[in-house]
Amino acid sequence: MDKKETEKQPPSWRDCTPSQKRVLLGIRRCGSCTREHLGTILGLPASSVSREVSPLLLEGTLISDPPGVRRRNAQLSVAPSLAYAIGVEVGFEKVRALAVNLRGEPVGVVKEYRPDRRDAPAFLQCVQKVVREILAQPYASRVLGIGVGFANRGLWNPAQAFAREREEGKGDPLVHALEQTFRLPVRSRSDAACAALGEHRSGKLRGVDNGLFVLYLEGIGLGVIAAGQVVYGEWNDAGELGHIPVDDDGDYCHCGNIGCLETVAAQWALVKRARQIMQGGGQVNFRRIPNLNSLQISDLCAMAATGDQLARNMLAKAGRALGRALAISASLFDPAAIILGGDLMDTKAYGPMIAAMRENFQTLTAHRTPQPIRFEVSALGNDATVFGAAELVFADLLA
Ligand SMILES: [Zn+2]
Repeated sequence: MDKKETEKQPPSWRDCTPSQKRVLLGIRRCGSCTREHLGTILGLPASSVSREVSPLLLEGTLISDPPGVRRRNAQLSVAPSLAYAIGVEVGFEKVRALAVNLRGEPVGVVKEYRPDRRDAPAFLQCVQKVVREILAQPYASRVLGIGVGFANRGLWNPAQAFAREREEGKGDPLVHALEQTFRLPVRSRSDAACAALGEHRSGKLRGVDNGLFVLYLEGIGLGVIAAGQVVYGEWNDAGELGHIPVDDDGDYCHCGNIGCLETVAAQWALVKRARQIMQGGGQVNFRRIPNLNSLQISDLCAMAATGDQLARNMLAKAGRALGRALAISASLFDPAAIILGGDLMDTKAYGPMIAAMRENFQTLTAHRTPQPIRFEVSALGNDATVFGAAELVFADLLA
């Protein structure tokens, strides 16, 4: 962006007065709206709405479609460059980050880094590096804050590494370190909660008051939207779907419990089980994998796709368990929709798992809902968590 373009920029969010912010927030919530609709939202007569809106249009804080300051039925929307937020996803193996403008649109592409070690300092360094790169952009002075979505309770748990000091009452060390480094407000929540927030803001859960988001990655998380709000829980621990106990006689889980959903349905559990079966000399097609240790979940999905009965059965068993856990969740939250995120978006590879999940879910919930709960694939895809993490900043700091 050259100097000329910078001069054309509208004022930033920080320059707006409280009453202007009220108008802008009302419009942002709808995406775009007419003056009449804005008046209804804000409880203001038409004359007051015009008094507020006209100067904002003149200075470019609001945008009119079609253009013009006095078009009564024009759609009004906020200027995207008024403010930005940085969304960061701290996963089990990588850090991803994206800058998002006030309209919830991405600015540039998602940046992704893999720390060379799985420990807190290495992950912190990665987060700092990626945030520094984003803050080198011309819009840096308009960044309101940094949102972080954490993978929780994994075999290696990035959140846990940072949580120890939090439990000792020293606050969240990652949040603290980022605030110190960048002098910006930082908010952090679980990745599934962020994904649900992102999808609620600009994906398939937009306008939905009650919905669930299944984040199926290395772990299995659930983002919950209830009464229009994300449910975070007392300790940021709501939605730990993967650790719902589904089998009293099941395997031990890395969380310490027995028979958690993850021990039946997580990728790590399926890979572990497949290796055990192969070591025992099981199933014909399994023997085509030359090195047991190199077996990945993608191999299992590929074998199921070619008709390998054991691979199909393993995925279907995982799907039934997931369907049962979601049926329990549906009984608790009465959702209108369940969004499939993470690797479940690959409906072809995970076909046998998804089919069994839906079938069992349907059987277990058929009695209770007047119409079937709809299943859909995430609109935001792999970026749901970074979008939602950025939205954490807007949701908290704009209000
Ligand atoms: Zn567990």
